[in-house]
Amino acid sequence: MTVWLLGDQLHPETAALASADHVLLIEAHAFAERKRYHPQKLTLVFSAMRHFRDALRERGYEVTYLEAETFGEGLDRYFAANPEDDLVGIRSPSHGADERRRRLVEERGGTLTLVENDLFLTDRAFFDEWADGRADSGTEGDDIGSYRQEAWYRHVRRETGILMEGADPVGGEWNYDDENRETPPSDWTPPSVPRFEPDGITEDVQEFVTERYDDHWGEPEPFVWPVTRAAAERALDHFVSERLSEFGAYQDAMRTDEWAMSHSLLSAAMNLGLLRAEAVVEPVLEAYESGDAPLNSVEGFVRQVIGWREFMRHVYRRSMPELATANQLEQTASLPPLYWDADTEMECLSEAVGHVRQRGYAHHIERLMVLSNFALLYGVEPAELNEWFHLGFVDAYHWVTTPNVVGMGSFGTDVLSSKPYAASANYIDGMSDHCANCAYAKTKTTGENACPFNALYWDFLDRNEETLRGTGRMGLMYSHVDRKDDAEWAEIRERAAELRERADSGTL
Ligand code: FAD
Repeated sequence: MTVWLLGDQLHPETAALASADHVLLIEAHAFAERKRYHPQKLTLVFSAMRHFRDALRERGYEVTYLEAETFGEGLDRYFAANPEDDLVGIRSPSHGADERRRRLVEERGGTLTLVENDLFLTDRAFFDEWADGRADSGTEGDDIGSYRQEAWYRHVRRETGILMEGADPVGGEWNYDDENRETPPSDWTPPSVPRFEPDGITEDVQEFVTERYDDHWGEPEPFVWPVTRAAAERALDHFVSERLSEFGAYQDAMRTDEWAMSHSLLSAAMNLGLLRAEAVVEPVLEAYESGDAPLNSVEGFVRQVIGWREFMRHVYRRSMPELATANQLEQTASLPPLYWDADTEMECLSEAVGHVRQRGYAHHIERLMVLSNFALLYGVEPAELNEWFHLGFVDAYHWVTTPNVVGMGSFGTDVLSSKPYAASANYIDGMSDHCANCAYAKTKTTGENACPFNALYWDFLDRNEETLRGTGRMGLMYSHVDRKDDAEWAEIRERAAELRERADSGTL
């Protein structure tokens, strides 16, 4: 039996592989031209596929590895050698991908049977059974709406027994967020970051990517990402021993010149299939059991993996295709040029965009509270922002950027949260040292050097009042809106208009 695996299905112990003797992998080069993908993303995927090919051959599989322009061209060559073959595939989490693949195979006289994707912790039936019949969103005052990540997360913990003592959460609380909003002291030394030096295969791919995709966005080096399962496991071990204990406390913190903080940096490997969610969670739980990591870190991390990641994937599945173009705030602005050149006096944005350019990575709070928060306040069309995230990050796939960017970051729909993640300089100052190093004044809303986040924040609330005032938990924000007089609003609107002009012309 032949299994056709995709570049994000690189795990040697999936059920589909257990009964196969032949594996088909197609490295599609023209596909990678559809967007100006970060060169490190392309290197990561192609190099991981080639390493996986070799690992499978060592395990005794026959592997057909095709470098082709498109899947169609690869399949032409495959079916010329294997007419009318019946292929098996693992379901892709990305919308429409399965139908497209099935059609391509059938057009060439073969068949494609799709099996459940067991690279995630939970399957479709498990989620659907939980979700069906639930209200679409929470009611005001209800801290966990019924179709919300928090309710889902508790359900997964109850059903799996992860971090449970009988019917109760370990430690007595479902989350320890109160302990997880610290910033490190000024003498804090960030933990080391594991580095995986490119081997011959990766160097070959880097050369190919740099030559072929020479107009793509982002720096090809330094390339720090694991491309094999063994390296991904080393990255996981390193996280558990060096970074996990501080993960919780500093998970929302940002610091100038520090791109990784205490984050796990595992999303790229997980999304390629090199690490399954269970395998990532297991040593983290062991570290808690053995007293090597505190509960606030362990619970905080587990929630990201079994709560958020799984929730996003299922919500995407159930909300597509509408989710991709959802835009309830009717935002239409284009992304300002600073998202491409990082050329801005705003320290937080310059840092975050710089991180993405250098490594195809920014951590969660940079993504949510800097990169997408600014775009939200600025009025960027959610689909355009999604495109930027999709091409710029090493861990980006349509199934994961779309709910995060369109839903969570842009509030294109309220399916993921009942209010937008909109914040002014105050939040960024509270969680980082950026404002202290910035040319703009965090406490000023208007005037020449006032932080752009402030005027844009009030302008955003003003522009979207009709949709937002009655939404979710926005009452407090609008009580501040109501306190501003006409003269203040005139200054805010004028400042916001000027900021837009400056951002558009690349002089922010
Ligand atoms: P850690 O902070 O160490 O977290 C551990 C793991 O939890 C991550 O590796 C990831 O697998 C999982 N996780 C945490 N939050 C989420 C989430 N919201 N959705 C899915 N998985 C989550 N994640 C991606 O994998 N790819 C993306 O393209 C992506 N784009 C994002 C865009 C925006 C605007 C936002 C707000 C979030 C995005 N995320 C994305 C989610 C999250 O920011 C990243 O998973 C995380 O920053 C990856 O870094 P890490 O591995 O160091 O994560």
